[in-house]
Amino acid sequence: MTQQNVSVLGSTGSIGRNTLDVIERNPDRYRISALSANRNVDRLAEQCARFDVGLAVIADPLLEDDLVEALRRLEARADVMSGSAGLNEAAGMTRTDIVMAAIVGAAGLESTFHAARCGKKILLANKESLVIAGEVFVAEANRNEAKILPVDSEHNAIFQALPPQFEDGLEAAGVRKIILTASGGPFREMPADQFHLVTPAQACNHPNWSMGRKISVDSATLMNKGLEVIEARWLFNARPDQIEVLVHPQSIVHSMVAYRDGSVLAQMGTPDMRTPIAHALAWPDRIEAGVDRLNLSQMNDLSFEAPDLERFPCLGLAFEAMKAGASAPATLNAANEVAVDAFLDNRIGFDRIPQLVGSVMERIEVSAVQNLEDVKECDRKARHMAKQWVDQSNG
Ligand code: NDP
Repeated sequence: MTQQNVSVLGSTGSIGRNTLDVIERNPDRYRISALSANRNVDRLAEQCARFDVGLAVIADPLLEDDLVEALRRLEARADVMSGSAGLNEAAGMTRTDIVMAAIVGAAGLESTFHAARCGKKILLANKESLVIAGEVFVAEANRNEAKILPVDSEHNAIFQALPPQFEDGLEAAGVRKIILTASGGPFREMPADQFHLVTPAQACNHPNWSMGRKISVDSATLMNKGLEVIEARWLFNARPDQIEVLVHPQSIVHSMVAYRDGSVLAQMGTPDMRTPIAHALAWPDRIEAGVDRLNLSQMNDLSFEAPDLERFPCLGLAFEAMKAGASAPATLNAANEVAVDAFLDNRIGFDRIPQLVGSVMERIEVSAVQNLEDVKECDRKARHMAKQWVDQSNG
């Protein structure tokens, strides 16, 4: 079997480390060509030594010398690059076949877009790229015959439950609805009048999944599900009315597809990101992922309920942004990233996250998005306004 070369963007994060774990279990199939981090020099250097990597990229250019030194100490041979030039090199280099896009937030847009431009097989964890640049990103991927495979567990589940001909349109494939499941997060049963007391540590303590801090907060506000709704719209070429969200607190059914004839196909598994990562890596084959097996005979309670949009307005805001289209999802995402950062820094309360996002969305008019520059401009504008909102609410 020919080995495939994988670049892992965001290798020091939760998805990145899970990806390396799956690759380590399948050394005959994969080798790592490049790894990247933002600032975590030590972990990046250790990963480069462990996998004998050719290129190490540190996003923060000020840390390039530290990375060179850390690699030298470990006797690792990797070349070193930094900044967006380094990330683009890792995403587009000739010897890379597969790019795992696992940088968090809009910071992942440029390198993920570059992978599309270079026609790579993209394993997409960085949902924010697709949320903010949806149409432009999909067009770039199609133009260059790049394949986008979903890593987000819900979208990976849907991908597994759809027939291959879904690309010609969901209706033509007999699909009635895509049903995204949501765990409901750690505050599923908390009354809204207690939200202002929530601490970052509580919000990052997800009941079922172990994830990075930003996505953990997004899961607690249900903004994560909102971003996923928009992600699904682009991945599966779905109309807004073809996407539904159901809260399923056990996180065993990762999502479902409902068909015209009444069939509902679900993908199930233990909540472990190594399953969707392994699926996307090996598709259409199946490989070992190292996860616990699902034991349904010990599960006497799989429940489903409608989401509560009053207590979790972020989900409703995301549906609105999807329906408005054009620049609206980029505005939503940028305002949310600023809000989550401010919450994690104890500058705004948990209850203020949807207020901030809603306020920025109201104040910025929806505009056309024709290229990556339009997306970036919209992201900048919304970020600026959101930061002002945070400053004013603290002033
Ligand atoms: P983490 O915060 O755990 O990791 C983020 C990674 O991105 C790290 O390697 C980090 O480097 C790097 N990074 C952060 N900021 C920048 C930047 N400005 N420029 C370049 N690199 C940067 O996040 P997750 O792994 O949880 O999430 C990654 C993506 O995957 C997100 O888009 C998330 O929504 C998505 N996702 C995650 C899931 C999960 O289970 N964790 C599930 C489904 C989707 P450093 O370590 O140096 O900070």
